[in-house]
Amino acid sequence: MLDVRTCASLAEAAGILSGDRQALLVGGGTLVMRDVNEGRLTDGTLVRVTDPALTQMSLSGARLELGAGVTMAMVLARPELAFLHGAARAIGGPAVRNMATIGGNLFAPMPYGDFTTALLALDALVVVQSGYGAGRPVPLEEFLAARERGSQGMVTALQVPRPQNPQHFHFRKISRVKPKGIAVLSIAAHLPLAGGRVAQARIAYGAMAPTPMRAKGVERALEGRALDAATLAAARQAALEGTRPETDAIASAWYRREVLPVHLARLLAGAAR
Ligand SMILES: Cc1cc2nc3c(=O)[nH]c(=O)nc-3n(C[C@H](O)[C@H](O)[C@H](O)COP(=O)(O)OP(=O)(O)OC[C@H]3O[C@@H](n4cnc5c(N)ncnc54)[C@H](O)[C@@H]3O)c2cc1C
Repeated sequence: MLDVRTCASLAEAAGILSGDRQALLVGGGTLVMRDVNEGRLTDGTLVRVTDPALTQMSLSGARLELGAGVTMAMVLARPELAFLHGAARAIGGPAVRNMATIGGNLFAPMPYGDFTTALLALDALVVVQSGYGAGRPVPLEEFLAARERGSQGMVTALQVPRPQNPQHFHFRKISRVKPKGIAVLSIAAHLPLAGGRVAQARIAYGAMAPTPMRAKGVERALEGRALDAATLAAARQAALEGTRPETDAIASAWYRREVLPVHLARLLAGAAR
């Protein structure tokens, strides 16, 4: 039997979730409600939150703050978030984007998680609230590692450093069906340049591991270098380091490994132009 609790405040929801480890917060419900409707989720507590704080956005300053309940459609409606539009537009069709939240995307199982992949390349922080205390910002990479170990706190917001030059941020999703295809893989790259050399490269992959992951071998190959042919070759060489793709209905793990270096090289060649 499913019990649905509606909470007017984030604190009330956090209290329920920390008192009942099986309770699930419902974001847009694109995944949770599918599980309910298809009979995979039949027992437990679903928590809905009507607190407007969950959909608030603070878009001034160097670090943007987006409520976890912000949907992909809300992201697309804000010109200040243009650097994230490619990732938001890559998610499902218009009906899904109207419901799908950025908080829910953090928990979406592989091969989902395209928006999270973009946030990972931007060094985003996840504000996690447990119990009645104030939320605690956690680096997204750390949050994803904890998620893989099974931990699931309530996410109230995401803090996203704004790229100084949005043209240094790149996102590419590879899918077989266009539009609306699910990812074979996705790649996000933040490649700030200082004096023609890459400084603090961040590369993230979606669908190449159980959660979105940083491509640290590629980051090392790019760091402090000009984006010339030798650097691109070294980056391609390091493309598969740390990847753990799975086989699913979209692609085999073998195929994902085969095509990743090709698409990474194309993205980096585009960034070098
Ligand atoms: C037809 C279709 C196409 C899709 N295409 C894509 C796609 O192309 N790319 C992609 O990445 N995804 C895709 N998805 C998956 C999904 O829609 C998105 O990942 C979406 O962002 C999930 O967000 P949601 O708010 O709907 O999550 P929900 O279904 O509400 O929740 C998903 C999980 O996250 C947890 N959760 C949600 N919000 C919070 C929070 N604030 N704090 C703690 N836990 C939370 C829930 O408890 C649940 O475990 C698709 C889904 C469908 C049905």
